[in-house]
Amino acid sequence: MNYQIIYKAANSYEAHFIKGLLERYSIESKLLGGNLSVGIGELPIDVLQVDILVPKNQIEKSRNIISDYENNLLSNKNKGNWACPSCKEMNPLSFEICWNCK
Ligand SMILES: [Zn+2]
Repeated sequence: MNYQIIYKAANSYEAHFIKGLLERYSIESKLLGGNLSVGIGELPIDVLQVDILVPKNQIEKSRNIISDYENNLLSNKNKGNWACPSCKEMNPLSFEICWNCK
């Protein structure tokens, strides 16, 4: 099956989060880049950007899911809070890093 890049995650935590999001909609995605063969617990926060790939016939559906995800992040920011992309905890605007998972 042909895969196409749908999103470039800033780090492997965000990539795994979006992969999990897509799986909830029965979309199987692949991650490329970073150093994903290493256990995620050992990765530094700022690993290389990670490409997320989905099957070409799922592109449209995946785009909708990811834009919903991005809109959620934005609207939470507008309320003064932001959602952590890896653990989904809400953080106050004044927090630079997630209080829950750092
Ligand atoms: Zn977090």
